Amino acid sequence: MKGFRIREEMNGVEEPPGKTWFWELEAGVIFADRCIQCGTCVAVCPSNSLGVNADSGLPELVKMCTGCSLCWDFCPRGGLRYEALWPPSTPPADAAESPVVVKADAADTYWKLTGGPPGDGLGAVVHSYAVRAGARADDAQDGGVVTAMLLALLAGGDIDGALVSKPSADPDEPWKGIATVATTAKEIVAAAGSFYNQTMALAELDLSRYDLPAKPRLAVIGTPCEIQGIRAMQARRWPTGAHRVDAITLTIALLCTKSFDYEALMLRELRDKRGLDLNRVSKVDVIHGRMIVEYRDGDVAVDEPVKDFHGAALKGCDECADFLGRGADLSIGSVGSMAGWSSVLVRTEAGRLAFERARGRLDVRDLDDPEALLKLDRLDKRVAERTLQRKLDPDAPMFIDFAEHVSCYSGTDRAPVVKER
Ligand SMILES: Cc1cc2nc3c(=O)[nH]c(=O)nc-3n(C[C@H](O)[C@H](O)[C@H](O)COP(=O)(O)OP(=O)(O)OC[C@H]3O[C@@H](n4cnc5c(N)ncnc54)[C@H](O)[C@@H]3O)c2cc1C
Ligand code: SF4
Ligand code: SF4
Repeated sequence: MKGFRIREEMNGVEEPPGKTWFWELEAGVIFADRCIQCGTCVAVCPSNSLGVNADSGLPELVKMCTGCSLCWDFCPRGGLRYEALWPPSTPPADAAESPVVVKADAADTYWKLTGGPPGDGLGAVVHSYAVRAGARADDAQDGGVVTAMLLALLAGGDIDGALVSKPSADPDEPWKGIATVATTAKEIVAAAGSFYNQTMALAELDLSRYDLPAKPRLAVIGTPCEIQGIRAMQARRWPTGAHRVDAITLTIALLCTKSFDYEALMLRELRDKRGLDLNRVSKVDVIHGRMIVEYRDGDVAVDEPVKDFHGAALKGCDECADFLGRGADLSIGSVGSMAGWSSVLVRTEAGRLAFERARGRLDVRDLDDPEALLKLDRLDKRVAERTLQRKLDPDAPMFIDFAEHVSCYSGTDRAPVVKER
């Protein structure tokens, strides 16, 4: 089938013919160390057969698999065909301010989100700003914009809650982010800041344990791969299970080039190897090519090139070329703006309305350095492309040495190091 051919071309993964069972997803993605822990497979399963393994944090079968194939079809590292997601939105009427790129033609390279050639611009963007919250939450990562927006939307009655990441309450898991639906201002503020681990966020869309109205309206804050899963589920009809994808009214992507394995980064690299007291940590940041960890008393506990932590990164992130979160209503990150501000890309009408709702709580000015976003996006795509080449041909002569290109996180103009193997 054409779609299967396209998929193979995109990420070099052989498509299983006919019915696909969960164990094929396991073999092709989870056991192959390619899972990026987005939780889409759990959310999409119509028979609620999938859950999250308490030890590994990875998807697992909790009851009989019916072979419906949907976990494979919607998995961003399995059969998800990105071309079905474009265009991500209809541009709003006042889109004249900046050029809107909307291309849905599969003949265009734009649809090749994973492993494709460098993309064209920032995707569908109607406004781009540097923004900071007037009253910034203490633990906010950059400008505190995500938190301020969620507070405004909740106060305005636009949402009933938000899927965010809060710190784990388990004392053995300091600085581990876990997915939760925040339904109060206090919970939203408590979830401010970035956790550099994936949370199987979309598995949390089974809302039965939350006190929400029958027809809840949720904002989802997620890494771009999580937004891809949502967009795919919203775009295609499928028999639903317990997970309330229908509740999602707003998606905010955090700009992302890489996430990490919690134990490998926080416990082995930071706590065990470098002797950090994780209970004293106030902020973990990956910025300007460095891993910076600060203590609450202001001491800098770690300031090292992020390349030193490459072994702790999720392997599946190397295949990802969606740094900019092109499918979201809003994309928000640090690259492109001065310290203490966040870069905001408004992509859709829903995103514009949400931003306007919060505007009174925000300082807004032009984006400082849009080119930094473009550069990092190009690099991200090149990394994915090389990863694909190596999958298709393990003897491919050229590859990017991930360990040496620190610009992955910084948006600086350092070129990636391309080496002969
Ligand atoms: C894994 C990861 C990698 C990132 N990489 C980059 C990058 O390369 N370049 C860049 O410019 N920006 C990156 N960011 C985004 C950046 O760290 C900030 O999240 C962003 O600038 C928003 O800051 P803020 O102060 O406006 O948000 P805040 O007000 O601090 O709110 C952040 C929101 O994100 C939620 N959140 C935190 N961690 C996660 C998570 N793991 N998954 C889902 N939701 C989460 C919080 O619960 C909170 O609601 C990354 C974020 C993450 C989580
Ligand atoms: S990448 Fe996402 S959809 Fe695929 S197996 Fe992992 S959690 Fe499931
Ligand atoms: S790099 Fe891509 S796959 Fe990895 S967490 Fe970020 S968005 Fe997801």
